[in-house]
Amino acid sequence: MIVPDVSDVSDVPRPLVDSFGRVHRDLRISVTDRCNFRCTYCMPAEGMTWLPRSEVLTFEELDRIARLLVERHGIRSIRLTGGEPTVRAHLPVLVGKLAALPVDLALTTNGATLRSCAADLAAAGLRRVNVSLDSLQPERFVELTRRDELVNVLDGIDAALEAGLAPVKVNVVVVRGVNDDEVVDLARYGRDRGVRVRFIEFMPLDAGEAWRNEQVVSQAEILERISAVFPLEAITRGHEPAERFRYLDGRGEVGVIPSVTRPFCEQCDRIRLTAEGQLRSCLFSLEDHDLRGVLRSGGTDDDLSDAIEACVGAKWAGHAINQVQFVRPRRSMSQIGG
Ligand code: SAM
Repeated sequence: MIVPDVSDVSDVPRPLVDSFGRVHRDLRISVTDRCNFRCTYCMPAEGMTWLPRSEVLTFEELDRIARLLVERHGIRSIRLTGGEPTVRAHLPVLVGKLAALPVDLALTTNGATLRSCAADLAAAGLRRVNVSLDSLQPERFVELTRRDELVNVLDGIDAALEAGLAPVKVNVVVVRGVNDDEVVDLARYGRDRGVRVRFIEFMPLDAGEAWRNEQVVSQAEILERISAVFPLEAITRGHEPAERFRYLDGRGEVGVIPSVTRPFCEQCDRIRLTAEGQLRSCLFSLEDHDLRGVLRSGGTDDDLSDAIEACVGAKWAGHAINQVQFVRPRRSMSQIGG
């Protein structure tokens, strides 16, 4: 049991402390289940069934839940994700609403349309952005994402930098035999462009259920490959999922999200809201807590708070990837909100 440190949320009435003493300050909101890419480690090539629009939370509903979580429950950072969040119409309007709250507001995107929307998002109050980029090789990029968009994604990263979204981070899911030979190239790209690359261990959240442990490239192996070319030293770990390392020559830093080989569940301070308003306390949860039902049946803020606290109260100690008791969640990453 961790001794809960609620000092920074002592000004809120009901901090979200779970039964293991973890204090929750970070909210991921999936604004849509739709995506304009079909990354092989996430979605099938075709046959996705999208949520009907009426089932997706409106901006007003999202604003109400977010406001309550911030003002009453001590959420301090919000990340918008999906699906692909930039395919949601009028995204800057939502960003504007959420930016009025005292939170660190960020976005995770595939970057393909950032050239046209980065400035609007920044003007609306977005602070920073994570862009997914798994290969610098045009043909491989098409194989991985099933879309010919590498040029636009690289340009989107430049647009985010120009718009002042800082820091820009680049997410790379590393899959053995697919793109693990590009780890050093992607690290070099991050150093050259001044963006922070974060390598993510492949998790069993692909729609095709093809994940195998042998495809996971561990944090240790990723670091070994990078530091053979660009020597690194560890930076003290905070609450974020990435373990961070700085280049000894002073040219920035790199991170690894070792969800499989070095799970960070003990420090997890995250909750997730799916596009259809289901609250989840873990990516791998098998249970959803229905906030949309509470909202749309005329529930009060107290009713919402009760549902939120029930979700956090039921949070488990950690996921159990690679253990016999592990059960894959029914939904894939794009349906939960990564
Ligand atoms: N469409 C946006 C994007 O491309 O970043 C946001 C949603 S995407 C589901 C969020 C993150 O989840 C991306 O960085 C993606 O690479 C990552 N992701 C998806 N499936 C994954 C898996 N099976 N294992 C690890 N990361 C995964």
